[in-house]
Amino acid sequence: MTSDTPDDPGRDGPARQVCPICGKAAAEKYRPFCSSRCADVDLNRWLTGAYAIPVTEDDDEDGEEPTLSPAPPSER
Ligand SMILES: [Zn+2]
Repeated sequence: MTSDTPDDPGRDGPARQVCPICGKAAAEKYRPFCSSRCADVDLNRWLTGAYAIPVTEDDDEDGEEPTLSPAPPSER
């Protein structure tokens, strides 16, 4: 008879994580963070980054754009 169980409950799998904010052990309730505070910090960072993205996309209008190609050397 084989009494070998493939699923060992005593084993710690990838469920164990560390808070990316402070590096502490993450809480199952606030995974992957350790607390709601750290989760909020991460969310704030995310929002800040999301808001910073459209800034580079402000050059979509046909306005005064810098000369991409160099002007001809001989033109009078
Ligand atoms: Zn934390």
